Amino acid sequence: MRVASYNCRGLHLGTSEGDKARRIVVDNLLQKCDILCVQETFLPKQELGKLNSFHDNFHGAGESMTDLTLGIVRGRIAGGVAILWHKKLNPFINVIRTEVDWCIAVQVDINNKVFIILNVYMPYECQQNENEYLNKLAFINSFIMDNHSTCVYVVGDMNADLRDRCARFSKHMLQFCDDNNLILSSQLLLPSESYSCISEAWHSTSWLDHCISTVDAHATLQSMEIMYDMSLSDRVPFIMTLDVDCLPEMVHESPGVHKAKLEWHKLRNEDILTYYGRTDVLLADVHLPRCALTCSDVNCNDVSHHEDLCVMYDCIVAAVLEASRPYYTYSHKASNMKPGWNRYVAAHHAEAKEAYKAWVLAGRPRQGPVLDLKKLTNAKYKYAVRYVCKNEQVLRADYGRKTLQ
Ligand SMILES: [Zn+2]
Repeated sequence: MRVASYNCRGLHLGTSEGDKARRIVVDNLLQKCDILCVQETFLPKQELGKLNSFHDNFHGAGESMTDLTLGIVRGRIAGGVAILWHKKLNPFINVIRTEVDWCIAVQVDINNKVFIILNVYMPYECQQNENEYLNKLAFINSFIMDNHSTCVYVVGDMNADLRDRCARFSKHMLQFCDDNNLILSSQLLLPSESYSCISEAWHSTSWLDHCISTVDAHATLQSMEIMYDMSLSDRVPFIMTLDVDCLPEMVHESPGVHKAKLEWHKLRNEDILTYYGRTDVLLADVHLPRCALTCSDVNCNDVSHHEDLCVMYDCIVAAVLEASRPYYTYSHKASNMKPGWNRYVAAHHAEAKEAYKAWVLAGRPRQGPVLDLKKLTNAKYKYAVRYVCKNEQVLRADYGRKTLQ
């Protein structure tokens, strides 16, 4: 499977000769890959439907921040991302809408080999964009954590120049990978003198386009290549080859079970008593394989013992699930509120917001105590967020225990 990424700076979906001429790099890429991620499509919402029809072999989905029905657009349409995939992949593709306009994802599920490609367009490096950049990295992190697949590729225009030692955004990107156990695959698989952006005006090049992978995802990357000879503008596409067969297989849980949530703290006492009663009754029916349970051979090779224990385990889980079934609540979307937020983050958040307001009121100074306070409170806030993210499981368990008491 071949996946490519390209900042096209305007995707022309028309059928005129002029449009085709302006689309030549994209059309060439579509001959070489199965999935193409494009950034800066400059398309309005009204034209996203055409992503499904402009090419004979490809379908697509996109996001845009410009709605032409809301009035006149001043100047050029900005940003926008799209993912195109070969029609042969239609049965395996699921588009994931992130409800933001700077990224879009597809989940590919081929015979239980599941992976996700998140196509992103990050803000360019300048001081005003720094907070937004960090927020978007945090968004990417929660996107990865919220998904069931352990195999996620984040590809696109990261606007983080790996070649420039002073570039702040590339430091943020590297730190982000470090903090979250992610691998900057483009850095590992490509030579350090690579580039993906050419500045005619400054006679210089920079390396802004990257692929960040989870550990599983990185392991399936066979190769990566920057297509210098294909570029006709200031941006150069890259292409990577995935070995889908060596992906870990996802085991699907029975439908409905994993989506159900049991909110113990919302149950009344009599519900919990009924639950006790039902578990007693149902567990009493679980057959106990005495032979296997009393077997004292730590290296036991008796297949029937192994099977009996597995069956008993499944029966116990099923009994407990069955007993709790009347109290399930179904949520379609996991809450974004992390456990521990109120306790560890809320105060820092308020403080950072106040300091930010004061900084704006002071005329956004570029130095001095007002700026320093803004930076300091913001850093504290981010560390608090990082803390609750890293300790989510522990805090969740803690919260569950407290509400049961
Ligand atoms: Zn045994």
